Amino acid sequence: MVVIQTVQCPYCGKSFESSIDVSGGSQQYIEDCYVCCQPITFRTSVDYDGNLLMIEISREDD
Ligand SMILES: [Zn+2]
Repeated sequence: MVVIQTVQCPYCGKSFESSIDVSGGSQQYIEDCYVCCQPITFRTSVDYDGNLLMIEISREDD
C-alpha cells in the first residue's frame, strides 16, 4: 500500500508530495527532493495494520 504524504524539504523548504510505501513496515531510506534534488533522509513508522504513524525527515548529513 502506498500513502501520499506532503513533506517539507529540509534544504530548500518547499513542500511536495511523496508516495510512501507502507507495506514493508517501518523503514529508513533516502529520496531526492523534487525541487532542489538534494538527498532527504526519510524515517517512517508503520503499525501492523499498515497505518503510517510517523514520518521524520532530515538532511542526510545530520
Ligand atoms: Zn529541496
